[in-house]
Amino acid sequence: MRLLLVEDEIRLADVIAGGLSRAGFTVDEVASMGDADAALSVTQYDALILDLGLPDGDGMTLLRDLRRGGNATPVLILTARDGLDDRVEGLNAGADDYLLKPFAMPELVARLKALLRRPSGALGVHLEIGNIRFDTISREVEIATQPITLTGRELSLLEHLMRRSERVVAKDVLEDHIYGFGEETASNSLEVMVHRLRRKLVDCGATAHVHTVRGVGYLLKDNPP
Ligand code: CA
Repeated sequence: MRLLLVEDEIRLADVIAGGLSRAGFTVDEVASMGDADAALSVTQYDALILDLGLPDGDGMTLLRDLRRGGNATPVLILTARDGLDDRVEGLNAGADDYLLKPFAMPELVARLKALLRRPSGALGVHLEIGNIRFDTISREVEIATQPITLTGRELSLLEHLMRRSERVVAKDVLEDHIYGFGEETASNSLEVMVHRLRRKLVDCGATAHVHTVRGVGYLLKDNPP
């Protein structure tokens, strides 16, 4: 899942982004409202983590504009403000949750997972195709009830293919979801990763296979025995 982190304290932002990547999220970091707007205009995020005191304005304004424009992406506000009025204002402006600084990383991860679990259809807790079962909260995958070990990026790749199973997913869409902004990616790195994931699935006896649709992308399809 891809998150946008809007936080102008760079050291704090790096710590948060590091913790979230270890928890299996892909994180884009921006430090101003302007950069947040730019990122939101080109990318569909699964959730937004928003600091309120930003150098070019108040995060609350960004949140209101977002909701006014019909964008329903879950938003978690991160702030040192602890007045009850601020909390109420944030929730009224359309925030889904509120976390006060300082906070512990596991708390942030738990709150985000709770947000992403909320109904809106797209985010089932379990994804299944053939004998593959993916728990999107614990990030565990089982094939015919046997656990399989995948890297963080392989998990992201498999998750996106499973969310769109039986449909072709374009390469650039997958790259968008797996790599953050500015991450160095070799031109063939997606192919290499798909190859590795495909092998692991085959080796573990998965009934669904990753097919290459030449020049377009990839397709995860169940082929029952
Ligand atoms: Ca700030």
